[in-house]
Amino acid sequence: MSDYDKLVASTKLTLGRIATEFTPAVLASSLAAEDMVLTDMILRSGLPIGIFTLETGRLHAETLEMVARIKQNYAYDVALYKPQPEAIDAYVATHGLNAFYDSVELRKECCRIRKVEPLNRALAGKKAWVTGQRRAQAAIRAELHVQEDDAAHGMVKFNPLADWSEEDVWHYIRSNDVPYNPLHDKGYPSIGCEPCTRAIQPGEDIRAGRWWWEQPESKECGLHVVDGKLVRIKAV
Ligand code: SF4
Repeated sequence: MSDYDKLVASTKLTLGRIATEFTPAVLASSLAAEDMVLTDMILRSGLPIGIFTLETGRLHAETLEMVARIKQNYAYDVALYKPQPEAIDAYVATHGLNAFYDSVELRKECCRIRKVEPLNRALAGKKAWVTGQRRAQAAIRAELHVQEDDAAHGMVKFNPLADWSEEDVWHYIRSNDVPYNPLHDKGYPSIGCEPCTRAIQPGEDIRAGRWWWEQPESKECGLHVVDGKLVRIKAV
């Protein structure tokens, strides 16, 4: 068995274990390539792991289109979690629609309203959540483990693709004919909100196109933020 085949087999085992031992569990999908690998594995096997995405109101049209493509390919409705309209109105009235460019604080506040609060709603009552994060994606993810204790959300967090390389992801997508976001073909290895994501040049870091005006250490959504601080996630 090749290393790639072992990786796929162990990822499927992890997902199977999540489905049997951690129900209810959900996949937080950004609708990017990694999440499509997990979506494909979950839906092809009929695993009882729900799939949702944070519909921030600032996503690319191509990203939103992936929801319809998943419905078409797998007959599955991805759940959409949207921000509270009153919180958006207050932010825009006070700071402006694109104030996230002005400071890290205002960027994190926008992420808190559009991502963190809806994420907390999506995770309420769950035993575990699953992400498509990979260790190789960013400096801040160097300590990423397949299974972690997420104290911030009071549950277990799984990153089944923690050990996967970018090549492994694309090998899976191509060999299984998995639908993927066309932005990946336009220089977007990492996909987020439209105003905060840009294409990268060959050789640039994978996450260089996300919040490109900030330092690498601050480049996370704050999805593990407690009281405004990034919290350490413990491996288990
Ligand atoms: S990625 Fe940008 S637009 Fe999206 S929630 Fe964060 S700051 Fe706001």
